[in-house]
Amino acid sequence: MALTNFNKKQIKEKLIRIRRKKEEESAERIAEKFDLPYLDLMISPINYESINNISRKNAKQGKIIVIQRKNRIINLALTNPNDPKAKEIIEELKKKGFKCKIFVISPTSLNKGLKCYDMIKQYKRQYSLRNIFVIQKKELEEFKESLQTIQKLEETINVLPTSRLLTIIVAGAIEMEASDIHIEPSQKNIKLRYRIDGLLQDIVDFPIKQYAFLLSKIKMLSDILLNVTDISQDGRFSINILENDEKVEKVIDIRVSILPSNQGESVVMRLLGMSNVELEIEKLGVRLDLFNTIKNEISQPNGMILNTGPTGSGKTTTLYACLNYVNKPGKKIITVENPVEYQLKNITQTQISKRRGHTFGRALKAIVRQDPDILMIGEIRDEESAEVAIQFALTGHLVFSTLHTNNAAGAIPRLNGMGINSPSLAAAINLVIAQRLVRKLCPYCKKEYKPTKESLDIIKKIISDIPKKEEIKIPKEITTLYKAEGCSKCHGLGYSGRVGVFELFVVSDAIKKIILERGADYQLEAKAKEEGMVTLMQNAILEIIEGKTTFEEVERVIGSPELSVKKLLEKKEIIEEEKVGEIKEESNIKKKNQKRTLREKEEKKYIKKRKLRKKAEESEIKKKELKRQEALTEQKEKLILENKELKALKIRKKAEEKKKEEEEEKAEKERIEMLTKEKEKERKEEEEKKEIKTKKEQIMKDIMIRNKNRKEKNRIKNSV
Ligand SMILES: [Zn+2]
Repeated sequence: MALTNFNKKQIKEKLIRIRRKKEEESAERIAEKFDLPYLDLMISPINYESINNISRKNAKQGKIIVIQRKNRIINLALTNPNDPKAKEIIEELKKKGFKCKIFVISPTSLNKGLKCYDMIKQYKRQYSLRNIFVIQKKELEEFKESLQTIQKLEETINVLPTSRLLTIIVAGAIEMEASDIHIEPSQKNIKLRYRIDGLLQDIVDFPIKQYAFLLSKIKMLSDILLNVTDISQDGRFSINILENDEKVEKVIDIRVSILPSNQGESVVMRLLGMSNVELEIEKLGVRLDLFNTIKNEISQPNGMILNTGPTGSGKTTTLYACLNYVNKPGKKIITVENPVEYQLKNITQTQISKRRGHTFGRALKAIVRQDPDILMIGEIRDEESAEVAIQFALTGHLVFSTLHTNNAAGAIPRLNGMGINSPSLAAAINLVIAQRLVRKLCPYCKKEYKPTKESLDIIKKIISDIPKKEEIKIPKEITTLYKAEGCSKCHGLGYSGRVGVFELFVVSDAIKKIILERGADYQLEAKAKEEGMVTLMQNAILEIIEGKTTFEEVERVIGSPELSVKKLLEKKEIIEEEKVGEIKEESNIKKKNQKRTLREKEEKKYIKKRKLRKKAEESEIKKKELKRQEALTEQKEKLILENKELKALKIRKKAEEKKKEEEEEKAEKERIEMLTKEKEKERKEEEEKKEIKTKKEQIMKDIMIRNKNRKEKNRIKNSV
């Protein structure tokens, strides 16, 4: 048997060789006939870069390929120089100014040439196209077996060559529907982890020696600098999943972040736009009553729809689903996001990038000019974005956005805290949603169990004040709950996929009133519950009762149900206390009022008294004034009198002085008189003396004369 088989194979090969030889000989003859050179492409090389000078389609039709092109000289190989299509192609090339050199080849050579087209295509996809990483669907299928559980994936990664490491890492993430891939170097090895349904799962530790190659491949793909290792870098690339080498079946965008650490660079890859994400509100896990409320509110022409929750709570996905719902012809929808997580048709999506200077403020200026009907702001994170969102909502636009708060009611105080005033908030907001994602139990392996009395008590307490609604069915007796097990369908995790848990309230008039009064979040929550809101925890408990998720999962995502019961009681107490307080306050107010009237009376009395006293004081003052004036006049009079006296005195004095003067004058006169008398006396005396003197002198003279005369007489007598 073996021998015959061997012979058959030999014969077959011999036949092929003969046929090939004949084929080549035939080609040679054709060449001779047309006076053209002959070529065997099984031996002669084909220049891959030249081949695309003729399209694949034309090459196939005209049985002609380009084997080499140097500047304007082109070497063509064909099977039939008389082929009209081939002639047409040659004419085309000549028209374009090419000098054509023609060779004749066999059909086998032609086939080799045609295969080059495919090889180039694949080559380009694999190696030369930046930012695109190609995974063949075949590869995914091939890995499928090893991707069933994390354990199997670990085994596969450990035996794979380094060059295929990225493919298996990415394929694993896609297969397990991971949202992030974490690659973290440590001292001994490299840790690979996936975030699946919101939780990080350890996948495998692989040797450090494989890391350098993997890291540089990721860096190259995402346009990240290879030689820079000490600063954080961001980039992105996409994964194209190809079916049959040709058709792109699925595109997954990957955002890459590289962070230097003391052990080396760690990589986080976020898988965006996984096309299996449901962007329909119905499929988010929203109960019918909530679904109707949401539909109603997002159909309003303006106002604001807020979805709150921590990172990874699915709030953006919900808003996308809402956008999808309102995305109708005639509506202009613009989004401002960081990053754009899903590509939506007929919606203008703007991505904010600080690195490229495309900031929120800048994006916004452009958006105002674009005049949208509906705006989605990825996240309100500061005063600027809050202000803008509110302004748009107040000016006739429908605005969607998200906020980081613990519950729906918390959104109002948060926005207050961002500087938005209460009247604007009350007017702008239509609907506030809070959302979480809890992992769904794997339907194939979830396991029944009998809950303890304690957990049943907690459940009963939490659901006790759920408002009665058609859509909410609570079983009278809860006997069994479910827990996670793990099977090959859920990669051994026990959970598969996630479901949204919601609470929401419409801003009714009563709630507006609380907003305007700047009420606390628990007051808002109490009012919302009064108006029919089912809280996050209540909805989560309903999911547990329905066997969709577990106690542990709710505790992990939303918080301890036990604690929530305590908190609920505390809140109730606070509200009760406040009510009591209000009543107390009322009676207090009455008392206060009474006191006030009393006080007012007293005050009036006091005022009267004071007035009287004042009057008395005034009259006293008047009296005093009078007295003072009297005293003053008296004084004046006195003064006048004194003055008179003084005058009189002065007059008297003057008179006295005059008298004195007169007397003095008299005395003086008398004295002068006396003096003159004395002088007269003296003069008389002197005159008397003079008279006496003259008399004496006369006498003397007389004597003398007499003497003379006598002498004369004597002398004469004598003479005579
Ligand atoms: Zn399972």
